[in-house]
Amino acid sequence: MGEREASGRGDTDRAVGSALRSSAAALAGGLVGLLLPERCVACGGGEALLCEGCRGELLFLRGTLCARCGCPTAWPVERCGECAGRRLAFASARAAVAYDGPARALVSAWKERGLRRAGALAAELVAETVPRPPAEALAFVPGEGDRVAWRGLNTAEELAHCIAGPWKLPVEPLLERVRSARPQRGLPRKARAANVRGSFRARGGVPAVVALVDDVYTTGATAAAAARELKRLGARSVHVVAFARAIRG
Ligand SMILES: [Zn+2]
Ligand SMILES: [Zn+2]
Repeated sequence: MGEREASGRGDTDRAVGSALRSSAAALAGGLVGLLLPERCVACGGGEALLCEGCRGELLFLRGTLCARCGCPTAWPVERCGECAGRRLAFASARAAVAYDGPARALVSAWKERGLRRAGALAAELVAETVPRPPAEALAFVPGEGDRVAWRGLNTAEELAHCIAGPWKLPVEPLLERVRSARPQRGLPRKARAANVRGSFRARGGVPAVVALVDDVYTTGATAAAAARELKRLGARSVHVVAFARAIRG
């Protein structure tokens, strides 16, 4: 009894402590936002999160694309040099912009500095550029537990919530991470696939068609592992949606 009370109180203390910490962080973020004029995350100039000049340098992925992986191609193709011969569990992958220059700066401000307005802008660019997939719900790639705790946000989840409005789709936390993969950065493509295999577990009640949101599409290995798991739990097709996509070559 005493133990249970103590542990109950411990949980409450922890919850209160974490709520205080996050509201202190939010308050500090809000104050910084009030005190500092907005600066462009890419060039440090201007008075917008992404100044007009840098926005003009974004490479929107609106032209002809590989139908499957969304790689820009000279003419429409079903498979491209990047995805042919690969087992990718998703039906399609689309992103708003190439992961380069100002897009890279925006993602880094969002992910590393926890700048939430960057997520809202990323969602705006996705909604403007990527056709809404024929999905019943939005799922997102769950973050790594410790990294999410440290930054206090999961960018993929945030992006999903920001796109939910314009696309009029519910966000459903269908996936969880069961195993922490090593960071994918710097790993070659084949190693990436092995690294993320078995990282995700889907909960029941997966709709037939799911849009899976992630912040950056690099090789597609993470998205494919998450899509495979959604299909194992009942999805018929999975459409990946990302803010930015790495373009090779
Ligand atoms: Zn700029
Ligand atoms: Zn392709």
